[in-house]
Amino acid sequence: MAKIRHNFEYYTCRAIFFIIKGKQKIAGNTLCPQGPAINRKHMESITEIFKIGKGPSSSHTMGPRKAAMQFKEKNPDAAKYEVTLYGSLASTGKGHMTDKALSEVLGCDKCEILWKPQIFLPEHPNGMKFESFSKDGNRTDSWTTFSIGGGDISDTGKRKPKKRIYPHRKMHEILKWCQENGRTFWEYVEIHEEKGVWEYLEYVWKIMQASIERGIENEGVIPGGLNLGRKAASFHIKAKMLHGGMQKRALAFSYALAVAEENASGGEIVTAPTCGSCGVVPAALYSNFRQEDFSEKRIIHALATAGLIGNIVKTNASISGAEVGCQGEIGTACAMAAGACVQLLGGTQAQIEYGASIGIEHFLGLTCDPVKGLVQIPCIERNAFAAARAIDAQVYSLLSDGTHRVSFDMVTEVMKRTGHDLPSLYKETAGGGLAELMSGE
Ligand code: SF4
Repeated sequence: MAKIRHNFEYYTCRAIFFIIKGKQKIAGNTLCPQGPAINRKHMESITEIFKIGKGPSSSHTMGPRKAAMQFKEKNPDAAKYEVTLYGSLASTGKGHMTDKALSEVLGCDKCEILWKPQIFLPEHPNGMKFESFSKDGNRTDSWTTFSIGGGDISDTGKRKPKKRIYPHRKMHEILKWCQENGRTFWEYVEIHEEKGVWEYLEYVWKIMQASIERGIENEGVIPGGLNLGRKAASFHIKAKMLHGGMQKRALAFSYALAVAEENASGGEIVTAPTCGSCGVVPAALYSNFRQEDFSEKRIIHALATAGLIGNIVKTNASISGAEVGCQGEIGTACAMAAGACVQLLGGTQAQIEYGASIGIEHFLGLTCDPVKGLVQIPCIERNAFAAARAIDAQVYSLLSDGTHRVSFDMVTEVMKRTGHDLPSLYKETAGGGLAELMSGE
């Protein structure tokens, strides 16, 4: 009953938002990421940064789950469903729990999954064919669609252009606008986003907190074959025995581990900005929320600023590990968290921008080398360290007067260029780095 209510609440919230928006959502490609396009023309809604779904991968679990829900809704009385997975989706789908996501929606006893990794449909590498059958075995419906990343599906394998929401695309333009109009970043978001954004962000915060609270309780081995044990619960217990700054850091570790482990285990999370980096923003915000006793309203406003920061990176560079390496995922998440935390503690717009710059700058060049292609090693631990670094960036920029030489726009551009120059071995192909050295694990 609780699950039904939860689903109802989520989809009602999404429906209201999309009715208001008058359009469908999303963007993305690959393992944890979202946007395929480097240098997008304009900034979309920040809701494209925060998407709610089950991990560990937007393309391998969120997209197929969404497609299965649509197919089931169209064929609710089918006696049996068959889903054929093609190409990349079939090659790495087992490790990413694509079958679990499909069976949960279509019913374990009713759903058969066929794996065809050798067949690549011409439209897109992540093809799926859904078929429904009646009791007497007759096929009643068939639908082929594609998981194009970021939780999106498309029958053509192509992405539809998104609506322009913001008049600016660079941080310095937004800073100037804030200065001229006497406004803050979150007010900039409020003025330009469509109605319903605050309700949506409130729901995002609820899901983020729920993922932390589940993650610090759950124990056991993370599925996928690496036999990696969950650490968040034990970190959390030990953290509570510490004091002062060390406790704050240790708790932040435990919160980030909690969300990243939930993601790796197929739990519900919010992309921030991706599945792989989903623990950083919630951990940094929750850490401040619990220790400094901020109101939910302030947290939601900080979340808006985090979304804006992620959006600027997505528009001008990339938040996809497959395009620019992990600097685009973990680096962006750290920048989002740092900027949001500086705002929470009363930082100026310049200090917020400084915090965000620090967040990315010291992750420049970070490669994406997930062992066995799973979002576990090094991803889970990386979330914990990025959360702690975001809190460091928060302190550092608040100690400053906000002036600095390396601007956020500059580090974003450097991140894009560095990402271009990185060999593909280090961009989510699981062929280099730790993925190569630990391939025998
Ligand atoms: S290494 Fe980073 S970019 Fe790559 S899958 Fe893990 S979190 Fe995502």
